[in-house]
Amino acid sequence: MEIDYKKIGLKVGLEIHQQLDTSAKLFCSCRPELFKEEPEITFLRGLRPTQSELGQVDPAAYFEFQKGVKVLYEANRATSCLVEMDEEPPHPLNPEAVETVLTVALMMKAKPVDEIHVMRKTVIDGSNTTGFQRTCVIALDGEIKVGEKTIPIQHAGLEEDAARKTSEESGNVTRYRIDRLGIPLIEIATAPVIKSPEEAEQVALAIGRILRTTGKVIRGLGTIRQDVNISIPNGALMEIKGLQELDLVPLVVEYEVQRQINLIEIAEELNRSAAKQENLEEEFFDVSPVFKQTKCKVIRKALDANQQVLAVKLPKFNGFLKRELMPGFRLGTEMADRARFWGRVGGIFHTDEMPAYGITTEEVEELRKMVGAEDADAVVFVADKAENTKDALRAVLERAREALKGVPAETRAPNADGTTRYMRPRPGAARMYPETDIPPIQITKDYVKKVNMRLPELPEQKLEQLTKAYKLNQKLAKQILDSEYGELFETIVKESNVSPTTVAAFMTETAKALKRDGVRVENVSDNQIREIFRAVGSGRLTKEAVPEIVNWLSQHENSIVDDAINKIGLKMLSSEELEKIVDSVIESNRSLIEERGVNAFGPLIGMVMKEVRGKANAASVSELVKKRLERAYKK
Ligand SMILES: [Zn+2]
Repeated sequence: MEIDYKKIGLKVGLEIHQQLDTSAKLFCSCRPELFKEEPEITFLRGLRPTQSELGQVDPAAYFEFQKGVKVLYEANRATSCLVEMDEEPPHPLNPEAVETVLTVALMMKAKPVDEIHVMRKTVIDGSNTTGFQRTCVIALDGEIKVGEKTIPIQHAGLEEDAARKTSEESGNVTRYRIDRLGIPLIEIATAPVIKSPEEAEQVALAIGRILRTTGKVIRGLGTIRQDVNISIPNGALMEIKGLQELDLVPLVVEYEVQRQINLIEIAEELNRSAAKQENLEEEFFDVSPVFKQTKCKVIRKALDANQQVLAVKLPKFNGFLKRELMPGFRLGTEMADRARFWGRVGGIFHTDEMPAYGITTEEVEELRKMVGAEDADAVVFVADKAENTKDALRAVLERAREALKGVPAETRAPNADGTTRYMRPRPGAARMYPETDIPPIQITKDYVKKVNMRLPELPEQKLEQLTKAYKLNQKLAKQILDSEYGELFETIVKESNVSPTTVAAFMTETAKALKRDGVRVENVSDNQIREIFRAVGSGRLTKEAVPEIVNWLSQHENSIVDDAINKIGLKMLSSEELEKIVDSVIESNRSLIEERGVNAFGPLIGMVMKEVRGKANAASVSELVKKRLERAYKK
């Protein structure tokens, strides 16, 4: 779908969260790290809807509580203490984290607040042991330049990261690991002034560059999460939460606009076809008898387990459920998402996709008869436990009612292909209240002055410096800035004696290619990367061997580069060893040399390199082969 974003009046705002690389967590002295081993400690907690001190309960929070979910928390001693377990009050705010946010804020010309007040934001999906997330604003009203445009920054703040889900619910228990809980997150929010999908990506990139100049951000997948707020006139404000890949930003915006345009169109058509709110009645039919002999596996399984098939009629909705909203995603998909969320069912069936899944035309006809559906009506049905089917169909009805009005405001989560799915209703306004365990912290004028004196260079300045000092072209210099290794580049070039272009090529192309191949490059630390290039610089390692070394180190944490060199057998050959190999290649290719003379050089080099790749550098191989070839030829 070709969309004129200006014409439709798209407005996008971004909220970027990035983990900070501090020496301790935000409210305790635990290390901000994740662990991979089996947990040393587990504890089970029930969810409860925390009442704010104003006595309000957030509806989204209350809903999650109603689902009756219990949470099993996993921990180990190195990465969590009583604070994360909510058995001990939080310690004072980590000053290192505060200073990093203040640095970024000042680079964005934001005005620091006089006093930092930590607030509690209700979340009871279990991702916080306390039932809330601690958050604070550190500066307000900044701006950044993106191309020619000034993008207002509404605020820069600091938050504690949440626990991470280690498994989906099985029954009513969800597992969370609390190692991530309490890792400091910087939060940067722009005003909703972004007007196109591409611009959204540009702004996200620009903010990322500024964050990285501090040298204080953790890198790797999952360390940055962006919330994208999208709205169009006559649509609704949509919050898409937790986008981890920057490349997906423009696609997510594009698809969301498509979705809203299509929903608005569907609402108009439904109203014209005389669909009505009051006809969407909560009248459910047990249609299990229709499927007595069914070949549909899902239904068969449910009936065999003494569950039921429950159906509801959606008058005048025939044909609308199969209408595509974004690629591979229909109004029916949207209803299924709701049913899964509110009813905890696997999915729904509806007449717009029938016959399918082993359900026959005859069964569909009988089903329609049983619920009294006419041709213009759609029927939705669910096979599951009785109470689940009812909740699921109620959610479907609710979504159908909303379809008559247009676009419902929601919080959505991104899928890997750029489409989104329903996450939960938009939270109400009762989400924030003061954290009484932490006293306010003053930001004095003197402190601001001090931080101001040692601000890092802005990305524009850095870019100019990179092109000048290291003779990198604009494109490569930009890629360095946008890579996760920007701040490492200069250190490595200075200490390793390796050419800037070689280092740059690793940080851009090679690292990307390795990631594409599934190598967890983020497991290799800055120090290890420095060590690798020192080895290249001193001739202990060839630059061709770098990817293999990185790959090995990514799978063997706590190893050193020499381990990798030895284990992979990439030790540089001594000149004697190299000579031996060259001689044997020459010896076994006598006839080739006689036949082609000096022209045998190319193929011979190829053969030698194949044997010594990563263990000898190309220049010395070439020199040696040339010498030996001349000698052999002259003989
Ligand atoms: Zn702790």
